Amino acid sequence: MPALDDLAGLRTPALVVDFDVVTSNMERMGSLLAQRDIALRPHVKTHKSPDLARLQLGHGAAGVTVATVAEASVFAAHGFEDIFVAYPVWADAETARLVRPILDTARLAVGVDSEASLGAWLDRLPDVRGRLDLMIEIDCGQHRTGVSPDAVVSLARACHEAGFAPRGVFTHGGHCYGGPGLVAGAAADEVRALADTKDRLGAAGLACEVVSAGSTPTVGRSGTGAVTEERPGVYVFNDRQQLILGSCTDEQIGAVVVTRVVSTSVADQFVVDAGSKALSSDSPPWVDGFGLVTEAGGASVTRLSEEHGVVECPGVSRPAVGDLVSIVPNHICSVVNLFAEMVVVQSGAVVDRWPVAARRA
Ligand code: PLP
Repeated sequence: MPALDDLAGLRTPALVVDFDVVTSNMERMGSLLAQRDIALRPHVKTHKSPDLARLQLGHGAAGVTVATVAEASVFAAHGFEDIFVAYPVWADAETARLVRPILDTARLAVGVDSEASLGAWLDRLPDVRGRLDLMIEIDCGQHRTGVSPDAVVSLARACHEAGFAPRGVFTHGGHCYGGPGLVAGAAADEVRALADTKDRLGAAGLACEVVSAGSTPTVGRSGTGAVTEERPGVYVFNDRQQLILGSCTDEQIGAVVVTRVVSTSVADQFVVDAGSKALSSDSPPWVDGFGLVTEAGGASVTRLSEEHGVVECPGVSRPAVGDLVSIVPNHICSVVNLFAEMVVVQSGAVVDRWPVAARRA
């Protein structure tokens, strides 16, 4: 990350992105998946930025993944032509209003994991049959959404009967985020569940063109077997969770919150101007505090109010009031959503500002 001296004039807190780190993260992921002949469809909810997603297309991405139809709408309006909403979307009136214009310019797929939500698509948007792709979500062990492999054939048949031929299946090994030591098992669960699903569909005579897996921790292990596509998102920036899970090194951290010390009035601590409005309150039980302070001997942000981040650091020499410090967020996706723009730095200088165009979408 840039020397903080170069950012002295920055208004804080700021979300600062290192262009060179981000592009090298993209290059690494692009070549990993190209070597395995697996399509890369990055989850762009991580950055919500068409500028960044365009760079990803230039580094091997075949299309983008989003989490909501509103995000899909923003990316379609910015010219993206192949978008997958990896979420079991409920087709309400707002969905219907957004989906039709997207389909005028882009290929759009949405997740489905129940006959009830399939029924809502049929009731609300019967006219998009043949144009909207469905992807059936499989639960490989996260137990959040998705059907088990043994239920896939009946849901696929229901889709066909409704006139929505499913294009494929997808899963997310998100249980890898349960704590360190779970990544290999979650990746194996993704591969196994998708292979089982594909076999069942094949035995029933049902096509399955796309078999999509993905998360940043599991991508290095799950791109194998029946899998044809991966959807990592966080890899582009990385974050403290990825450091702890072993998915990245310190040098591969591509985004930090740059914040200013506003108080040292209490002994053994200092307070920065990044509170929950800049760092989010995301803190899984296996992560210490709310962010890693790079300049204070690896101290954590221990307490948050909305505009205050308290860093308790007994025995460590404290920065002075007015100094800048940078914080590696625990989970970068929820932090990006709190900022209107990213400040892009390269070789120590601010070179661009990218709007977080799909913020809160
Ligand atoms: N696919 C789905 C369905 C997700 O929910 C997510 C993240 O939440 C991803 C892909 C991307 O995974 P990661 O955040 O580990 O990069």
